[in-house]
Amino acid sequence: VSKAHRIQHAALDKFADRAYAAAIAAAANAIGAKAVVFSQTYDGKAISPRLAVRLDASHLSGLIGLPTVSGGSLVARRTTNSGKGIETVQSNRDKSVITVKSNAYGTKDRGANAVAVEALAFDPGASVGAVTLERVKASASISITEADTVVSGGRGFKDPSNWSHLETLAEILGAGKACSKPVADMHWRPHHEHVGQTGIQIAPNLYIAIGISGAIQHLAGVNSSKNIVVINSDPEAPFFKIADFGIVGDLFQVLPRFTEAVKKYKS
Ligand SMILES: Cc1cc2nc3c(=O)[nH]c(=O)nc-3n(C[C@H](O)[C@H](O)[C@H](O)COP(=O)(O)OP(=O)(O)OC[C@H]3O[C@@H](n4cnc5c(N)ncnc54)[C@H](O)[C@@H]3O)c2cc1C
Repeated sequence: VSKAHRIQHAALDKFADRAYAAAIAAAANAIGAKAVVFSQTYDGKAISPRLAVRLDASHLSGLIGLPTVSGGSLVARRTTNSGKGIETVQSNRDKSVITVKSNAYGTKDRGANAVAVEALAFDPGASVGAVTLERVKASASISITEADTVVSGGRGFKDPSNWSHLETLAEILGAGKACSKPVADMHWRPHHEHVGQTGIQIAPNLYIAIGISGAIQHLAGVNSSKNIVVINSDPEAPFFKIADFGIVGDLFQVLPRFTEAVKKYKS
């Protein structure tokens, strides 16, 4: 990033996908942008299709890396079939609007002074569409889709009363808490913690899977994580195949020592 464009208008004070798309379209047209990049977040997913229509641009969503340029088109990859496959997509317009999943690429710190900020004028017109009036967090816990680190537990915990081991580690790491589907189905943990094909899909920097076998339906929700640590007593557990680091051992022995080591390191 070498320049930031700032658009200020009362119509943009509250989130309104239509007004935001109009503002970004105006900016893209003013500077002759060929590509507009969003994070694959709720807001990104709400604005980007509208913007693509306004700009008559290709819409490439959910990319797992930045695209390459091939013969004037953008070519990029994204997961398909609930994360079980990868497909390659290509733009077919002069302009592209893309959304990229978290952790798809690294960031570079250019320092605060390296970016010039320029104001752009914007007229939203008569209609701005629906406006978001209020956003309230459903719970005080860390959102697992936004957390940098997620600690996750499976049936290996044997009983919900044993979750305190996981909670202590999550607290020390400032991590979000997740679980496998059976754990949520048995009401050991709330359903909003269930990750996988039928649960939430996440891509934190660090995913720590404890007492989870690594069934394909679970992996579909977590295999884009940057680093995966697996703690499991069964050396044949499928999760070890995609782990960056693995500990073969009984979680009830490993976890207190692991937590103690993290605590010592943090202090
Ligand atoms: C259509 C469909 C959709 C599904 N969607 C999802 C989904 O979204 N998310 C999901 O998670 N699952 C999903 N599943 C279920 C999935 O197939 C697995 O059954 C589930 O992920 C297994 O959960 P688990 O690993 O917690 O339990 P288990 O398979 O019972 O594994 C427990 C693991 O804990 C280990 N363990 C046991 N004791 C200890 C100990 N003391 N210390 C360390 N390790 C120990 C065991 O070795 C084992 O590997 C889906 C299934 C279907 C059919």
